[in-house]
Amino acid sequence: MNSPYCGRFQVTQQFKGSAHDGLDLVGLDSKEIHATIDGKVIYAGWENEANHKQGFGQFVCILGTDGNYYYYGHMSQIKTTTGAQVHCTDVIGIEGDTGHSFGSHCHYCVRPIFAAGRFLDVCAISGIPNALGIYDDGYRPPSNPTPTPTPASEPTPDPEPTTVPDDTTDEDGFGRIVIGDKEYDVTLKEAKD
Ligand SMILES: [Zn+2]
Repeated sequence: MNSPYCGRFQVTQQFKGSAHDGLDLVGLDSKEIHATIDGKVIYAGWENEANHKQGFGQFVCILGTDGNYYYYGHMSQIKTTTGAQVHCTDVIGIEGDTGHSFGSHCHYCVRPIFAAGRFLDVCAISGIPNALGIYDDGYRPPSNPTPTPTPASEPTPDPEPTTVPDDTTDEDGFGRIVIGDKEYDVTLKEAKD
């Protein structure tokens, strides 16, 4: 298993293909998000600088050495920069609740392109079970071999998104990401069930 977390983490929403193209993960021992593959950061920033509740919010996308695009969404802080070369386990950000999100978590997904609409099976790639529950991939940071676990607390329930407007639909290309001379629509729409 190869998760973006150190220590224990929780799967709070399963991978459901086009209905939810990644796993929602919550760190239990640490909120640090680390790269899960060697590669190049092709984007680190807001999906939409003008609307921090849109889509992935503040996110990092790594073009992995396998040719796929690894997304880490909804971060509260970014700890890398666009263009950086990263190695698996490098810390790239801190879990958060930015974008179209209903509680602090990381939307972790893998796509074959830097755009919405196609996805790969993140569970098959990562080895993380596609089932709600608490897991630990065994990774501990080398500089801190004995992290102090946080006291056991009740798991974060799936939040009820009853009052949050769906503001990910753009009529005019609002919020698209421009890298060089190309424009990308990476919008993530979190499933609400
Ligand atoms: Zn998600």
